[in-house]
Amino acid sequence: MRLSRYFLPILKENPKEAEIVSHRLMLRAGMIRQQSQGIYSWLPLGKRVLDKVNAIVRQEQDRAGAVELLMPTLQSAELWQESGRYDAYGKEMLRIKDRQDRPMLYGPTNEEMITDIFRSYVKSYKNLPLNLYHIQLKFRDEIRPRFGTMRSREFLMKDAYSFDLTREGALHSYNKMFVAYLRTFARLGVRAIPMRADTGPIGGNHSHEFIILADTGESEVYSHKSFIEFDIPGENTDFDDVAGLQAIFEKWTSAYAATSEMHDEAAFNAIPEGDRLSARGIEVGHIFYFGTKYSEPMGAKVQGPDGKEHLVHMGSYGIGPTRLVPAIIEASHDENGIIWPASVSPFDAMVITMKAGDEACDRVCGQLYDGLTNARLDVLYDDTDDRAGTKFATADLIGVPVQLIVGPRSGATGEVEVKERKTGARETMTVEAALNRLTA
Ligand code: ATP
Ligand code: MG
Repeated sequence: MRLSRYFLPILKENPKEAEIVSHRLMLRAGMIRQQSQGIYSWLPLGKRVLDKVNAIVRQEQDRAGAVELLMPTLQSAELWQESGRYDAYGKEMLRIKDRQDRPMLYGPTNEEMITDIFRSYVKSYKNLPLNLYHIQLKFRDEIRPRFGTMRSREFLMKDAYSFDLTREGALHSYNKMFVAYLRTFARLGVRAIPMRADTGPIGGNHSHEFIILADTGESEVYSHKSFIEFDIPGENTDFDDVAGLQAIFEKWTSAYAATSEMHDEAAFNAIPEGDRLSARGIEVGHIFYFGTKYSEPMGAKVQGPDGKEHLVHMGSYGIGPTRLVPAIIEASHDENGIIWPASVSPFDAMVITMKAGDEACDRVCGQLYDGLTNARLDVLYDDTDDRAGTKFATADLIGVPVQLIVGPRSGATGEVEVKERKTGARETMTVEAALNRLTA
């Protein structure tokens, strides 16, 4: 992608409305634009990051055996009357009427709709376990939308829903998502700690929130320090191994970790003082087991091996991609801008010419751009004639991991300066050496 033909509306000034660093940086880097309170457009640079986050979320859901579908944003109120949540949900639900005066709503979550889909098709235990998920916009009319897409009114959620014949089966389905979440967050370059959580309006009896520690987080959390060293389950984890997944779950829940709603002061104080962590955190994922809370009122039953009808045991599992993007920035930035983990960076590398139109610069930049693009890397080529200072500031602000800088002098000798965004380390090398390094 050539910067001269791209759409990257960088802001020079710090936007006044932004209170936290991720919001400031997302606005300045031209990633998002607020359209009305708590409702955002994702501009091209932001959209690229969001797509990369979603791709990782999707891969790990699929690996754990979940199956993707897509449900609509607008739902009929009838389903919510069946579960009893239409009245219970309160003002966070955006209620709408269609031209026939039928009550509709913009879905804040999808338990009712997925239960309706399930009961319409699945009649036998032989089709279980089943886990269905989608990545779709939600709307919650939050009292205090703030911090950009960290707490917005319209936001993207990956929500998965599991169905099992028994409670034991459902707990295995829960463990699958638990492990998938550990892997997902690790691949996104952040460390999220699973904490015992309140089940809130979704209801139920078994729940964990995945929390990224950050000073700007809205949750107060308490945990043992040992989480920092726990191993992330590998790519070849067997998701059908009931005992194996249970062992991972037990390991990751063996140390104290709770949000303020579930905090047990006495248990926390029993931890040696030096190992206590009392901090603020960002909730990026939340998983629930809630048994027959929805299958009962909505009549979602299957025939069991005993020939009798059984209410299915369900769980739901949410991740917020549009919150994760700012959460990753909160965890990875410096005074010059964003520092993307390679897995979610909008581009893999940036090629920067110091003199557009100079024969040697253009040639060397072209070689780098073509070489990297042919190796299937995403490259942003700053081919503009902006001042050097502006170019460097933009490159650092948007946080692509590697910058390849070509000036008339290095260009003439077929060389390039390779700058690592994270450390600022610079090294001059031949075009060939740079290509080898990036495509190895
Ligand atoms: P919170 O406590 O932050 O309001 P929640 O507990 O109501 O969130 P869940 O119903 O558990 O949220 O939703 C699952 C995930 O969706 C959350 O873990 C979070 O990542 C994301 N999410 C929820 N509300 C928002 C929001 N207003 N803006 C952005 N992401 C959100
Ligand atoms: Mg939650």
